[in-house]
Formats: sequence, C-alpha cells, structure tokens
Amino acid sequence: MTILGSAIGSKQHCENWISQKLDSKMPMLINKLENLGHSQSSFLLLLYCASFCKMVWYIRTIPSFLISQSCEHFDALITNCFENLLGSGLSKQSYMQASLGTKNGGVGLRSSKSHSAAAYISSFFKSKPLVQTFLAKSVVNPHMHILFESFNSLVSADDHLNSSSCPTSQKCLSNLIDTHSLNLLVEDVSILDKARLVSCLMPHANAWIRALPAFRNKFSCLEWSTCMKRWLGVPIFNQDHLCAACQNQVMDTFGHHACVCPVKGDRIKRHTVIRDILFEFCSALLGDL
Ligand SMILES: [Zn+2]
Repeated sequence: MTILGSAIGSKQHCENWISQKLDSKMPMLINKLENLGHSQSSFLLLLYCASFCKMVWYIRTIPSFLISQSCEHFDALITNCFENLLGSGLSKQSYMQASLGTKNGGVGLRSSKSHSAAAYISSFFKSKPLVQTFLAKSVVNPHMHILFESFNSLVSADDHLNSSSCPTSQKCLSNLIDTHSLNLLVEDVSILDKARLVSCLMPHANAWIRALPAFRNKFSCLEWSTCMKRWLGVPIFNQDHLCAACQNQVMDTFGHHACVCPVKGDRIKRHTVIRDILFEFCSALLGDL
C-alpha cells in the first residue's frame, strides 16, 4: 500500500513502487539535461533538482534494505548522466570523490544507497517523540539494528551507533559517512592525487562548483568539463605529449603543465580576467550606494 507518498509493504512491493516512480519521469528528465547545450547549467540542475533530493523522501520513509536495488538503479542513472556531461567515464576513485559533499572535496552527487540508512535512522528518531505522543505508548522499530549495522559499515569505529543512540540529524550522519569515505579515498590514491585532494579541501576552493552561471561569468562546455576533470583527477589527454605552446616541456595527461607553462600568457590572461570581475563586482556595489 501507499501512505503519504511512500510505499509500505514487502521488499518486492517497495522496489517495484519506486522503480515505477523513477521510470515514469527520470529518463525524460535526464535526456533533457544531457541535451540542454550548456554543461554547467545541466550539472547544476542535476545537482539541485534531479539527483539526491529526488530520493530523500523515499530513503527517509522506507528502510534502506527494502529499496537497495532502486537506490542502486537511481545512483547509476545520475552517475551516467554526469559522465555524459563530463564526456568521460569515472574511475572508482573519481566516483568516490564526486559522491562526496563539496565541503569534503566532492561535487555533491551523493549516493542515495550509501546515505539511505542514515536518512531512515535520523527520520525515525526525529519523528519518534511525536508518534509516541499520538499513540500514548513507547515505539520500537524492529529494523533499527539492521540499519545501525548498515550505517556502521560506512563510518569509522569511533562514530558507530549502538542501541542507546538516537540521532536525529541526517546532515550529521551523512557528514560522518563523507568524512570516512574521504579518509579511505586519501589512503587509496597516489601522492599526486593526495595533493590534489588537499587542494580541493582548501577554504572556498569548491565555490566554483555551485556558482550559478550569470552573464559572462559562466563556463563554456569545454571549460566546465576541463575544470571538473581536473577537480576529479580524470585525464584530459589520451597520452603525454610535447606542449604545443612552449615546445619544451611535457604536457601530462592531467594537464598539470598548463597551469605553469610560461608561454602563451595564460597566467596574465587569468590575472586580467580576475581583475575585471573584481572591478565589475566593486562597481556594482558602489552603484547601489
Ligand atoms: Zn608548455
């Protein structure tokens, strides 16, 4: 059965119910996003309107083990759409980073499957006092120990929940999952990628990811995909080659050399663009005074 827009019943019923919901709207939505013609706008619409937020109600109201396949299916749809916008597939490490929140060096495309237990646990404990008031008796959820186990498998031992825990903040639980995933990711990558991840964690380094395109302050599709690939450690070129600008040094597959190449004046161009944007911003402020 269905109550307040959520499925109640067996695993098969819950999986089928959500699959029908997703299949009726998501393919057309994804198709529209992929063909919008501006990758940065498509990504932001995906991030804000069509990804994790689409599943939040379901994962907060249905125990995670009853909808695990639907969550996997949904996550695959979102990842596939992101890869199509990016123009490249993601390695395991790049996918792990992309699924982290932007404050943890990711791009905010959280996995509904990974965060489903946290969402249900926090939802249950948040609503428990009200339910107990209505029923005038204590409420016990028989699924909670399974959900605790699922959540504990995704966080460090220090953050494990136990029978006396009653967390109500999904944000806090999700941050614990993200933090543990980030630590695992840092342990698993090369020294070069460690340096990149540390850079991604610097204050305000992620600001460009959620910045809304406006007037001339927006990325072209090529600029956005190049920046996003560099953020996630995705190769930009198929192989190392001699830099076409300086004709002297190797342009590596990740394009690191482009940031330090002394020829073609990109450093000066970048400085000039930042100067102009700052001038426009200050002029707009002064104009309002
Ligand atoms: Zn060069």
